[in-house]
Amino acid sequence: MTKKITLAGGGLVGSLLALVLAKKGYQVEVFESRPDLRKVDISAGKSINLALANRGIKPLQDLGLMADIEKMLIPMRGRLVHIDGESANLQPYGQNKQEVIYSISRGELNGYLINQAELTGKVTFYFEHRVNNIDFELNQLSLTHQGQTIHRNFTQLIGTDGANSPVRKAILAHSQADKNYQNDEQLLDHSYKELVIKANANGKHKIDKNALHIWPRGNFMIIALPNLDGSFTVTLFLPAQGKKTQHAELKQHSFNQLQTIAQLNDFFDENFKDLTPLLDNLDTDFFTNPVGRLATIKCSPWSFSNKALILGDAAHAIVPFHGQGMNCGFEDCDLINQLLPNAESLNNDFDWQDFFQQVEQHRKINSDAIADMAIENYIEMRSDVMQDDYLLKKQCAFKINQWFPERFSPRYAMVMFEHRPYSEAFSLGETHKTMLNELVKTINNSEELSKDMAAQLLTKYLL
Ligand SMILES: Cc1cc2nc3c(=O)[nH]c(=O)nc-3n(C[C@H](O)[C@H](O)[C@H](O)COP(=O)(O)OP(=O)(O)OC[C@H]3O[C@@H](n4cnc5c(N)ncnc54)[C@H](O)[C@@H]3O)c2cc1C
Repeated sequence: MTKKITLAGGGLVGSLLALVLAKKGYQVEVFESRPDLRKVDISAGKSINLALANRGIKPLQDLGLMADIEKMLIPMRGRLVHIDGESANLQPYGQNKQEVIYSISRGELNGYLINQAELTGKVTFYFEHRVNNIDFELNQLSLTHQGQTIHRNFTQLIGTDGANSPVRKAILAHSQADKNYQNDEQLLDHSYKELVIKANANGKHKIDKNALHIWPRGNFMIIALPNLDGSFTVTLFLPAQGKKTQHAELKQHSFNQLQTIAQLNDFFDENFKDLTPLLDNLDTDFFTNPVGRLATIKCSPWSFSNKALILGDAAHAIVPFHGQGMNCGFEDCDLINQLLPNAESLNNDFDWQDFFQQVEQHRKINSDAIADMAIENYIEMRSDVMQDDYLLKKQCAFKINQWFPERFSPRYAMVMFEHRPYSEAFSLGETHKTMLNELVKTINNSEELSKDMAAQLLTKYLL
């Protein structure tokens, strides 16, 4: 009997999961609501490019894809911080050449993964098939295709259908009596909009391409990630609504205050004087491109009976400030690769319910942890990177790591360059914070930190 698995959603996680399952011998069908992004010029959704890091690279490497994917990557070795009136300052992500993250086009990566999945001969993508409803009694999906409602049966369904997942909604609707029931969706009060810095006439990047650029401005910021065609995708993160204040000087900038070209120009002149000349189509892009909303989703259960499971953003959407949403979703796929037996060795009595529950048990504690770290990182990126105190702690953390690599890694490195669970990075990071806060009260610069002092601190904090 062919073992078939049905996926709802063929985005980054759905297309990688389809490939993982096909390599394990399963027949896979993927219902994707959008047209085939390899054929139609549509945005691949959300951000145009995104940062790929070690956690996301691991499953791609295991599948032998990295030789191809390397051609799509631009290494970014740190944050290039642009503070008004100062020269740009590189804050390296790590301490060696390997400790970099990579900018990659979402559409190119998604298209490549769909191709690879199809090449196995075991995966069929049904584009423009929107899942609307899931009937767990009949094991049946109700879909819209070309304006018609159609029905398709499934045996096991995996929802990789993103943050608004209908599969999640169906699972949670059936699980309200579950003892761990959780349906927590926190909309961030800051939204985002994408702009562009085009390539120079010679096709080269206008600013350093091997860095993630940040223009931190306290309560808001702009970031820019490089593209292979010489352009940068520029993202403004800003409160959606300004808070009312009695003092004009404390006015809070927000998207809803940028309604006219004059307001937009004033805002950019006041806050991003150095960047504005690089943005070729600022007003057209600003008033054409949508404002994107950002949310954190923590929910449980992730599965229903032996029938359905959710993964990727469908199970754990997070805000993008640690650059880990896709990486975390790819780690989900890696776990499936490790835990699910190959189709040929799967007995008829395989306990799918237990398997689904094991997946949630392994992953939820970790996706909750990266969700919290991603929120914290927003404050780090838009504000802390400008503070002397923050820079001193970062320099000390690098020194301690050089002296005692077995006992101490900066939290950023644990998340971005290591494979230890996010939950462990989070709890160790909390101890590190207390330790570094204590340390910077006793020194004025990192030269004053000695190896003995560092050793004593590590021992005191049981590290
Ligand atoms: C501005 C921004 C920047 C980001 N930057 C980074 C970054 O640098 N690094 C990083 O790791 N992550 C980043 N992320 C997060 C990353 O985009 C997501 O975590 C990732 O896209 C999740 O993949 P997914 O496949 O689970 O969901 P999605 O990418 O949302 O894919 C879901 C797919 O399901 C389809 N679908 C939706 N509803 C239905 C339906 N009803 N029926 C059928 N199909 C459906 C959609 O069309 C889509 O193709 C960023 C996110 C944003 C918003």
